[in-house]
Amino acid sequence: MNPTIALDAICAQVDPELFFPGRGDHASSRRAKSICASCPARRACLAEALALEDGADKSHRYGIRGGCTPRERAALARVDLGSPA
Ligand code: SF4
Repeated sequence: MNPTIALDAICAQVDPELFFPGRGDHASSRRAKSICASCPARRACLAEALALEDGADKSHRYGIRGGCTPRERAALARVDLGSPA
């Protein structure tokens, strides 16, 4: 995470494990996403994640970033690239 984002990152104030929920741990995922929803760095965080994960499929994306799960970011990346879903 770049230093500018890190200054505003709400996730820096909570247990980081929350942002890496296990498979099927929907409660943790929802909680992390709700924290992201009020984070002032959300847009920049999501843009950074999409750039860093450039072209990766969902199995090579990790954790909740910018309010999105790996699957959601993979879908956003496909839309950004104009590829079929
Ligand atoms: S949007 Fe979420 S993951 Fe990104 S910096 Fe904010 S709290 Fe952390």
